[in-house]
Amino acid sequence: MTVLLTGGAGYIGAHVARLLKERDFDVVVVDDLTTGDSERIAGTDVVSFDLSADAAANDLSQIMKSRDITSVVHVAGKKQVGESVNNPTWYYRQNVHSMTNLLTAMQVNCVERLVFSSSAAVYGMPDVEEVDERVECSPINPYGQSKLVCEWMSRNAALAWGLRVANLRYFNVAGSGWSELKDPSALNLIPIVLKSLVEHRQPVVFGSNYPTPDGTCIRDYVHVLDLAAAHIDALEYLDRPDRSYDTFNVGTGTGASVYEVVNTISSHVGRKIQPVVDGRRAGDPARLIANVARIQNELGWKASYGLSEIISSAI
Ligand code: UDP
Repeated sequence: MTVLLTGGAGYIGAHVARLLKERDFDVVVVDDLTTGDSERIAGTDVVSFDLSADAAANDLSQIMKSRDITSVVHVAGKKQVGESVNNPTWYYRQNVHSMTNLLTAMQVNCVERLVFSSSAAVYGMPDVEEVDERVECSPINPYGQSKLVCEWMSRNAALAWGLRVANLRYFNVAGSGWSELKDPSALNLIPIVLKSLVEHRQPVVFGSNYPTPDGTCIRDYVHVLDLAAAHIDALEYLDRPDRSYDTFNVGTGTGASVYEVVNTISSHVGRKIQPVVDGRRAGDPARLIANVARIQNELGWKASYGLSEIISSAI
């Protein structure tokens, strides 16, 4: 079975690529290599083009035909909230138009299994202890909205021509499974704090007056290796004849506050870290923790790593 993996040269995609190959799947990666780096997946076939370009449906179709693709894992996408607010149309083009091209090529070639990288950003600011998949989606930025539109598109394709879909709503992904696959972006809390240490700067905490026990925001941090494993479980799930479309939270079901993250990093590096408290960042929910009952029950997936292991793997 050959899997077409989009975005396979990125931080998350490269973990998925490695794990797929370890489990004996044949993999073809499509990646525009703007943020991805093909060195991360040396030895894997990589085809480079922009998935959102008008010609991409045809390019994808050629690959599906010539490589006998049976499934697609669609990880490629833009994922910066701030950038999406400043450049919304481009975000829709990147994330939604890519999905249009992908679904077109899948339909033409009768490729019927899709695992899609969605995000907890589709929930927006849910006011619940734990978010389950039935909570109403109300994304508050173009990034989250573009992910939700993609979920709708695949749902419609499932209804119309039998596409089988597993949407994976990622919570806060961090850590690394292989030392050369660390998150290079420094766009998220853990890599940002680690970078600030290297640069001898104080990390910044965005708000310490939230209605949480220590006043800082709580998130559900999931190890990228656990996340990658969820994609394999989702592919296997799509082989079950009684399943055709579903959406799963991918998190641990446990939260950690910004201060807890900083303190855990501090104990791992053996250095006291004195963060600076700044104002709240727009659109940050106080608490975002996954209810993981559905993925546990349906896919048999459960996170095996906690915050401490995530951080030690990221250092
Ligand atoms: N955060 C912070 N300082 C930073 C970066 C992030 O205090 O330099 C906080 C952010 O406000 C949020 C949490 O850390 O509460 C996780 O943020 P991140 O951007 O990593 O992921 P998000 O939850 O926004 O997807």
